[in-house]
Amino acid sequence: MLHVNARSYKLPTQPTVVVCVDGCEPDYIAQAVAHGQAPWLARTLANGSALVADCVIPSFTNPNNLSIVTGAPPSVHGICGNFLFDTATGTEVMMNDPKWLRAPTLLAALSDAGRSVAVVTAKDKLRQLLGHGMQGICVSAEKADRMNQAENGIAGLLELVARPLPSVYSADLSEFVFAAGVALMRRRRPDVMYLSTTDYIQHKHAPGTSAADDFYRMMDAYLGQLDAMGCVIALTADHGMNAKTRLDASPNVIYLQDLLDDWLGAASARVILPITDPYVVHHGALGSFATVYLPSSADRVALAARLGARRGIECVLTREAAAERFELPADRIGDLVVVSERSTVLGTSASRHDLSGLDVPLRSHGGTSEQQVPLIVNRRIAGLDAQRRWRNFDAFDLALNMAQ
Ligand code: ZN
Ligand code: ZN
Repeated sequence: MLHVNARSYKLPTQPTVVVCVDGCEPDYIAQAVAHGQAPWLARTLANGSALVADCVIPSFTNPNNLSIVTGAPPSVHGICGNFLFDTATGTEVMMNDPKWLRAPTLLAALSDAGRSVAVVTAKDKLRQLLGHGMQGICVSAEKADRMNQAENGIAGLLELVARPLPSVYSADLSEFVFAAGVALMRRRRPDVMYLSTTDYIQHKHAPGTSAADDFYRMMDAYLGQLDAMGCVIALTADHGMNAKTRLDASPNVIYLQDLLDDWLGAASARVILPITDPYVVHHGALGSFATVYLPSSADRVALAARLGARRGIECVLTREAAAERFELPADRIGDLVVVSERSTVLGTSASRHDLSGLDVPLRSHGGTSEQQVPLIVNRRIAGLDAQRRWRNFDAFDLALNMAQ
């Protein structure tokens, strides 16, 4: 028995794979199944266990991946976005260094307990956080050519997977993750494996389109191979994905910094978009979640009400209310948390967003409208209560405690 972040887990008796499919709105699976493109998923939905769970807010990649591997919300593990604003230095700081992590991961605990663990991520930015404190294999597809024994627990990854180095902006990056998972399971048979893809396809293609169905058919085939090797598989997602466009297909953006500059005077408030990262081409750093730091003279409650009354805004919460409702670390969010509606995204200033890379109508995430995600296990678990609130970070609980 393992005890991690106030939860208990049984040690695996069968190889166990938890998969985080980046941006997997449940409808992607439904459409691929309906189109006959995902036979393994169709069988698993019928014979295994299928739930819809809530991800953590902000519905972004890093907070949710860390929640899945810690079994806990951001208030416990501390990672609440890609960026935080360091009020001490007045600078925006990337949060992908493990020093920001406040809780141990289940992956580290499993390796401490002598179990072999392998982690494969698409983008390298997540690798260090996921691999923190863990012995074993921890690699990224993005830098597959640079993985080595000393740092990553394995050398010759490209040869093992027998695929070329994928481009960071491609469906290949995620396919490499699945192919590496299958190759590692075949050659090394780790006790526990965590696979995490990228949402490149989901940002560009709606559920049921041919490009989306192609992605899920590809994924389905790899998961079928893992299943055939006897793995317990739990599949979930870091967040969903929605179209964020106006009628004319232009991005439906509320530029919060421009609005607050207008209301409070230039540069008195500071808007932080925690979706911002070095790979913004496919979403222009536009998502449905923002946090705002205000001057001490500002009336937070009045401002929250004024912002909340704008069309397209889902909710505006003060720091304390947001920390409580979304289980966020209060010291790492601003004075206000702003969530926009399903078809709306939040920007800083119009002049600071380069939207020239958006070659298709914007699809993005970040808000409560992208909170529902699949939670699927390839074993039938008796007595699952579909009415309780399941979270994507229950994936390891299901896989280790109920599905073995
Ligand atoms: Zn994501
Ligand atoms: Zn994304």
